[in-house]
Amino acid sequence: MSQAPIAIVSAMHEELRALLPALRNPSSVCLAGRTFHQGEIHGHAVVLVLSGLGKVAAATTAALLIHEFESGALVFTGVAGGLRRGVKVGDVVVARQLLQHDMDASPLFPRFEVPLTGRSHFDADAALVEALSGAAQRCLDRADALIGADRLLAFGIDSALLHQGLVVSGDRFVSSEVQSAELRTLLPDALAVEMEGAAVAQVCADFGARFAVIRTISDRADDSAHVDFKRFIVDVASIYTHAIIDDWLLHRPHP
Ligand code: SAH
Repeated sequence: MSQAPIAIVSAMHEELRALLPALRNPSSVCLAGRTFHQGEIHGHAVVLVLSGLGKVAAATTAALLIHEFESGALVFTGVAGGLRRGVKVGDVVVARQLLQHDMDASPLFPRFEVPLTGRSHFDADAALVEALSGAAQRCLDRADALIGADRLLAFGIDSALLHQGLVVSGDRFVSSEVQSAELRTLLPDALAVEMEGAAVAQVCADFGARFAVIRTISDRADDSAHVDFKRFIVDVASIYTHAIIDDWLLHRPHP
């Protein structure tokens, strides 16, 4: 199969584990301490990989996917903390733009601007955003069947929503009301906070590669952000990720 593969990048192994069984004709390559799983899903060439946590791990992974695997499109999946009011646990966020909230070379450069690029915001690919949002909405519409009413209730999830907009990233697990309030003040448009997306965005901008970031909200980035984190990934987020990627690739036209 000679199509440029679609890369699906997971931050945590629970998410990758949910995706791997869907892979047809699998083979794997190890590089830079990562295992890249190549194969097909619904007839599309794909490469699945675990990036690890944080901006550097995500940037290394993205650069390898583009340069070594000639990936034509990268989709980063995972969980995130909800920041803006109304972005609740169990909701799904598709990033339209990404920004590094811990980038600060002021007063040499404006706060959040990536030095020498002249930009703080990096755009996701509009077509990927639309297609993934469609898939995500279809999955949210059948949340009861996918996750189970009991589990949704256990996590307090009721009528989960899809959001599109700004996602911010930094090398910090935001887990206090003080930290999340500060981010809300500085970046009032930010829907959610995580630790990898904006790094992938910067690498993809350098290479001219298409990318998208899709996240299930696991916490509200407050003092209880760590509670049930692992359980949520296993019971909810990894099931959504698998269902969304499966639906997206099923409906994606073949090149
Ligand atoms: N304690 C966890 C560590 C997860 S780090 C563990 O044992 O695995 C958090 C991961 O989820 C990162 O990949 C990040 O992108 C995302 N994330 C979820 N909520 C977050 C928050 N409140 N702040 C920052 N990143 C968050």
